[in-house]
Amino acid sequence: MSFIQLDNITKAFSEQGKPAVDKLSLKIKEGEIISLLGPSGCGKTTTLRMIAGFENPSSGSIKIDGASIVNESRALPPEKRGIGMVFQDYALFPHMTIAKNVMFGLNKWKMRDKKVRTKEVLELVGLEEYADRYPTQLSGGQQQRVALARALAPKPHVVLMDEPFSNLDAGLREKMRFDVTNILRRANTTAIIVTHDQKDAFAVSDRVVVMNEGIIQQIAAPKEMYRCPKNCFVAQFVGKTNLLTGKMDNDLRNIHTHIGKVTLPEESKERMENVTLSIRPEGCMLSEEGAYCGSVERVTYGGEYQELHVKLHNEPELSKAPMIIYAPVEQDVEIGSIVSFDIKPELVAMVE
Ligand code: ATP
Repeated sequence: MSFIQLDNITKAFSEQGKPAVDKLSLKIKEGEIISLLGPSGCGKTTTLRMIAGFENPSSGSIKIDGASIVNESRALPPEKRGIGMVFQDYALFPHMTIAKNVMFGLNKWKMRDKKVRTKEVLELVGLEEYADRYPTQLSGGQQQRVALARALAPKPHVVLMDEPFSNLDAGLREKMRFDVTNILRRANTTAIIVTHDQKDAFAVSDRVVVMNEGIIQQIAAPKEMYRCPKNCFVAQFVGKTNLLTGKMDNDLRNIHTHIGKVTLPEESKERMENVTLSIRPEGCMLSEEGAYCGSVERVTYGGEYQELHVKLHNEPELSKAPMIIYAPVEQDVEIGSIVSFDIKPELVAMVE
């Protein structure tokens, strides 16, 4: 049985125009970490706010642990939903110590229990020595851990986090992705995280929900989503890709595109006439006698790899750009030189 269940949730802020969230259905298992990922305005925050109870859906129902918190006849107030919220700016009270901030969420508990639980969650987030400090005396990452401790303190059914990493610089962001996942796993908490950053979503989640214009595009584990994006939007949103169209061969495995024949990782389950392919840049490997060739238009040094833009005789018409290829950094590639490459079938996917 799913622990959190959203059924056909729609939110329209006005009568005219498209709804901010459109017939969204999602089932989440207990202990699962889910990310809502999508571009600005796609409806992620509105979805989170409806689960939290800050916004009521226009229609649809939400259940948590088998109990209906929103349906046609009622909407449980936020404080009765068993939800812990971590806001983007952490929303810590500056005039309260760290311990008092954490205790704030436990106002109905007995004082002795409050103290025990506060100590327990501060230990969980590794900040037990900071209990008497004030928020301004902590780093951004530490403040975020306090916000998470405060959300976890009342043992909520689910923790909701809105853009938790967006206020952190690159190095700290990477560390906090690891720390936050670790803390959520140890607390065995179900969590829903809103982010517009694919790296955040992939690093912290069991499954990622990609949204666009209020509609779910795909729900999948990070690896599956990257390898087998459902459509062109997902393929482009979760990493760089080359989009090509082609016709399927009778063998159901080879696609005749205008850059040449491209092979799928396995036979297609159904026969299709016209096919769209997504080919990841790291699936294109420079090779002396590769099947495809073109001239290098751009070389961008990326640290772990270099990104080449290779203009083929026939360009992939859907991307409307040269092929993007990742080449090893030790390989010398000159702008204007002719390179040839092969395409690894494992990094080719059929998309809608
Ligand atoms: P971002 O990453 O920029 O926060 P988002 O994916 O979280 O974007 P939402 O904030 O959920 O997107 O907004 C979805 C749509 O609903 C947007 O078009 C937004 O303008 C609209 N919207 C959100 N809140 C309101 C509101 N209170 N009144 C009217 N329209 C709203």
